[in-house]
Amino acid sequence: MLFGRKKKNPIKINDKGAVEWKYTTCGYCSTGCSIEVGLDKEGKAVSARGVGDADVNRGKLCIKGIFEYELFETAGRGRVPLVRDRSHQPFQQASWNQALDKVATEIQRIQDSYSRDAFAIVSTGQIMTEEFYTLGKLARGVIGTNNYDGNTTLCMSSAVSGYKRSFGSDGPPGCYEDFEHTDCLLAIGSNLPEQHPVIYWRMREAREKRKFPLIVVDPRVTMLAQNADMHLPISPGTDVVLLNSIAHVILQEGLQDQAYIDAHTEGYAAFKELVEDCDPVSAAKICGIDEDSIRNVARLYAKAASAMTIWTMGINQSTHGSDGVVAINNLNLITGNIGKPGGSSLSITGQCNAMGTREWSSCSGLPGYRTLEKEQDRREIAEYWGIDADFFPDKRGLFMTDILPAIETGQIKGLWLIATNPMTSMPNTARIRKTLEKLEFLVVQDAYADVETNEYSHVFLPAAIWAEKEGVFTNTERRVNLIRNVIEPFGESKPDFWIFNELARRIERERKPNFPETTEQVFEEMKQLSSGRMLDISGMSYERIERKRGMQWPCRDGDEDGEQRLYGDGVFQYPDGRARLIPLRFVDNNERPDEQYPFWLNSGRVVEHFHSRTRTGKVGNQNKFSPTPYMEMNPDAALELGVEHSSYARLVSRRGDAVVLVQCTQRVPRDMVFVPFHFHECVNRVSLGLLDPHSRQPAFKQCAVRVEAIEDQQAASAINLAARAY
Ligand code: SF4
Repeated sequence: MLFGRKKKNPIKINDKGAVEWKYTTCGYCSTGCSIEVGLDKEGKAVSARGVGDADVNRGKLCIKGIFEYELFETAGRGRVPLVRDRSHQPFQQASWNQALDKVATEIQRIQDSYSRDAFAIVSTGQIMTEEFYTLGKLARGVIGTNNYDGNTTLCMSSAVSGYKRSFGSDGPPGCYEDFEHTDCLLAIGSNLPEQHPVIYWRMREAREKRKFPLIVVDPRVTMLAQNADMHLPISPGTDVVLLNSIAHVILQEGLQDQAYIDAHTEGYAAFKELVEDCDPVSAAKICGIDEDSIRNVARLYAKAASAMTIWTMGINQSTHGSDGVVAINNLNLITGNIGKPGGSSLSITGQCNAMGTREWSSCSGLPGYRTLEKEQDRREIAEYWGIDADFFPDKRGLFMTDILPAIETGQIKGLWLIATNPMTSMPNTARIRKTLEKLEFLVVQDAYADVETNEYSHVFLPAAIWAEKEGVFTNTERRVNLIRNVIEPFGESKPDFWIFNELARRIERERKPNFPETTEQVFEEMKQLSSGRMLDISGMSYERIERKRGMQWPCRDGDEDGEQRLYGDGVFQYPDGRARLIPLRFVDNNERPDEQYPFWLNSGRVVEHFHSRTRTGKVGNQNKFSPTPYMEMNPDAALELGVEHSSYARLVSRRGDAVVLVQCTQRVPRDMVFVPFHFHECVNRVSLGLLDPHSRQPAFKQCAVRVEAIEDQQAASAINLAARAY
């Protein structure tokens, strides 16, 4: 009996009237959960559930996946194409023909007036792989601009760059099943329970069965850190110092796997020489982790029968993000922890199809992990597409983070943004606003007409969203999964695939590739181009992928299943088959706290929202649980400044300011504040975003700010409200 009541209220599950369930894959994060969307008898999406026999999520979904079906009819969706001559004028509705003709004409005008590269394209990690491949064909094979990149530069390019430098190619070597075999897990800058809840659940279940130690490296006491055996609260931006010094202890105490190093790596002597200087006593003074803890972690990791490292933005979004990834790979190479069950360097990817763009979009090269720099790759693709190989440049163009400064300096005059929102996602909002205003022509292609960046566009193309179309995504563990077309596109919006094909028809070129009519035909093309390569998908088909609830690559023609891990044979993608051990000298170039700006600004995600909230900001439950831009602040620091819990405060940097709701918590140290990055006109008004020299990824997580109490709380609340207008 509970509080005198004889009867508990029964749990009621409302019958939403679903009469049919359709298979698809979640379109938010890269975990890659299989979802079934329930349709009522009118064909309206009314519910969602996890797919029980899908290996990835085994029936589970996080809050974003549970309510994803609501996206189809959320506010702000783009219903019709919109055009205008100047960005300060009101939009006029247009037909698809009018809008697409205008885009094609403007692309050609800019290219004829300036140069082919004066028109740039920035895409996303959110559309289907077949759409990426088609966009790549259009960008590289028809439009012919070399300034073509994706917003994955903001999240995953350090991982890509680090994998390429260490292993000779991109491609995460491990899988989720590694949690079930590992004897030691090191998680650096990755807050799984909030970022990737279903991967967290897989890890936690494995850990409950086998009790392996979990070591979390993070400046903040994240939810994952609270669950760790050991939390190393590192000073921001010093991961390379910590990892070099762990390697120092391993080599000094002879704990390395010398047989593996000798058989499969190159560069050991130079690496050893560098880490000899990285003793834990000196390292402790820089990275803030005491020498005993460094030694303990090194011994634990090296002595484990198998050990793995996972990481996310804490490593990638840094001025030495690529070096951080290489340092993780170094650690796993010297301990022989690559390509074996429970031994891996596994980057936990961000967007649902960040992997698909890496593999097939041609952003940084050519499809199927081919590069522009290799003549043979250029020739192969040109021949397959039926165009002249000389049409391709022989080295990659600008990254997204260099395209925007090139607009500022006038080298780029036109821009096409596809499902990306730099007005919220790029550092230094004021600078991005000025940059976009300089464009002669901006086309925004997005599912939402109210996406902030659309304020500066000349043409808006309304795109279909997620399961309003069909194709595949690749997840963090290289698993290709299918998105079935569950429902018709909203209003007059069209699949991105259709838009790319229509534009290809409109742009004049002497020789043009063929553009198939369906995504399944495109998938067949990709299969042919993948055959015999590292990312071989020739053994897959839409029907097999759905039946198996996703298949991992490589999966060769005739294989029953894909392979779970890469490099199990110790053969890497460099021509000599050896991985590289790379010495990494630490350069501290961050903007550090000082007297004027005494706090580190750290940023990250909350479980309810995804990226710039374009979608989750419209879903009732997501907003209910995470309604406002807030700031975690240490209570002692708040007391000193007269800033109260639950009051609004002003966050100020050398770039600008933002108003945030203060949440006093011991999760952050006294010299740090944390702000979620999802909200418009918030953290990126103050962030700096210095770029990594290899990956060009911005250091979103390291800059200096000060906090000021606000007297007029009512005015502050109005400003704060504007940042969460939806
Ligand atoms: S964990 Fe990621 S893929 Fe799975 S339901 Fe949540 S957002 Fe979707």
